[in-house]
Amino acid sequence: MSESSGPGNFIRTIIDEDLAAGRTAGRVVTRFPPEPNGYLHIGHAKSICLNFGLAQDYGGVCNLRFDDTNPLTEEHEYVASIEQDVRWLGFDWGERRFHASDYFERLYEFAVRLIGKGSAFVCDLSHDEVRDARGTLTRPGRPSPYRDRPVQENLALFARMRAGDFPDGSRTLRARIDMASPNLNLRDPVIYRIRRAPHYRTGDAWCIYPSYDWAHGQSDYIEGVTHSICTLEFQDHRPLYEWFLEQLDAQPRPRQIEFARLNLAYAVMSKRLLQQLVRERVVSGWDDPRMPTLSGLRRRGVTPEAIRQFCAGIGVAKADSLVDMGFLESCIRKDLEPATPRVMCVHDPLRVVLTNWPQDRVLELEAPYFPDESGRQGTRLVPLSRELFIEREDFMEDPPKGFFRLSPGGEVRLRRAYVIRCDEVLKDAAGTPVELRCSVDLETLNAAPVGRKVRGIIHWVSARHALPAQVRLYDRLFAVPNPTGDKEGDFKRHLNPDALQVLAGAMAEPSLAAARPGERYQFERKGFYFVDPLDAAPGKPVFNRIVTLRDTWARLQDQQGPPGA
Ligand code: ATP
Ligand code: MG
Repeated sequence: MSESSGPGNFIRTIIDEDLAAGRTAGRVVTRFPPEPNGYLHIGHAKSICLNFGLAQDYGGVCNLRFDDTNPLTEEHEYVASIEQDVRWLGFDWGERRFHASDYFERLYEFAVRLIGKGSAFVCDLSHDEVRDARGTLTRPGRPSPYRDRPVQENLALFARMRAGDFPDGSRTLRARIDMASPNLNLRDPVIYRIRRAPHYRTGDAWCIYPSYDWAHGQSDYIEGVTHSICTLEFQDHRPLYEWFLEQLDAQPRPRQIEFARLNLAYAVMSKRLLQQLVRERVVSGWDDPRMPTLSGLRRRGVTPEAIRQFCAGIGVAKADSLVDMGFLESCIRKDLEPATPRVMCVHDPLRVVLTNWPQDRVLELEAPYFPDESGRQGTRLVPLSRELFIEREDFMEDPPKGFFRLSPGGEVRLRRAYVIRCDEVLKDAAGTPVELRCSVDLETLNAAPVGRKVRGIIHWVSARHALPAQVRLYDRLFAVPNPTGDKEGDFKRHLNPDALQVLAGAMAEPSLAAARPGERYQFERKGFYFVDPLDAAPGKPVFNRIVTLRDTWARLQDQQGPPGA
């Protein structure tokens, strides 16, 4: 079993049964069918892991199919990004890259067959008239006055639709099923529309385009897909999917199976809404590290392994649910924890002067990249000198009980170095501390202080050697779990204003001057960071925070009660 498609699930049970019954001649063919009208997001990753993972597990194949039947929204840019993202996630379609638009001719021939059987007709009603005549769940639809057109007339009109004899929207081809069906999808659905719009692949070869339902199922059939796995909202389309295949006497017949889409708390997952954020420049692009897109997660520094583990962990079910962002974050931490080297970076520097340390003395400490108990090797040199930076929040003038960091008269250990004591606090006119004057206990390098206990350990950098860096603190894009929950009102009202904080004055330890784009580090006590591949300037690296070390949101909720409470 692969990590990707997850442990046993109901889809495996169906496939096992199909294989046992010999229904698919021993084959498993799945497909991942994105419409190239946007970038892939983590919801798509669930579908990719499932489809490619099942193919791997059953020794089958998975097709990458561009479901490109809408000329108005599709572009090459999206095709390229989708291919890059699927590969990055770790999957390979080999030669099996297909396009629904490659099947336009065959789909047209299939439609002619439907007409020949009296199962489709050319309808002259307008879009609005078709909708009005469709009825509701409680009221049957009204048959189109064109429903009983003779076959020959339908054939001739459909040919002329293709030839461009009629204006856009003036006619459609509709399946002839049942206007009284309790399933609205079966009330003579439209399967071809006239639309003069250049298609990104077929140009102006066509002025009629197939509907999603018509193109999708027949593409599955053409490709020999055995199990067509889609999200729950297509459940009501399944009778139509099967009706089409029956009309065409399709053999062997693909089988549609629905599963619950991934909904992620504190995020939106609709391509339309993500597109809106990009277009309105709420984010810097599809790859903004706050976005739930695969390109955004990659830019943030998340690994494909973490996403695959996440997809395996959420499982595959039949009921919709909202997955907590905390689960994604914990998968990311678990993935990064073991092998990410640990270094020091002060985000908000406060100057410390070690008064009993000689002016020019520099001690090069050899500091391991990993905790001793990890068994991992590797060290770097960390210089210690008379002036340091520590984190401003690691000092409190008037500390509450249980504050184990630095305060006047108090002691703390510098990570991998000595214990220091704060003797004096220098402040500016506004009363803000600007410098701490401290003394070093020179007996405490790798040794406990004698006769007292020092509980806190803080990170630090030598001021003279510090590397100025830009640090970008990324957080959840939305401040509420379900930003689209209230139907009226704009989802953008719920954007988290603190989802990006740019720290211009951060000071990193000098070893990070050698950090290369795309590397990951744990900044001790802070989180996991990624060296941004695009925005660094010479001598000034940019670090994207991938995730904090702890689930700070859970802690907030503990204090405030559950969200919405
Ligand atoms: P959107 O609603 O965001 O536009 P979509 O479903 O229209 O998404 P497609 O490009 O058609 O996007 O999706 C390709 C495949 O990915 C489909 O099989 C779809 O079922 C699946 N998919 C899309 N979103 C999710 C999700 N949130 N969870 C699981 N699978 C998804
Ligand atoms: Mg879709």
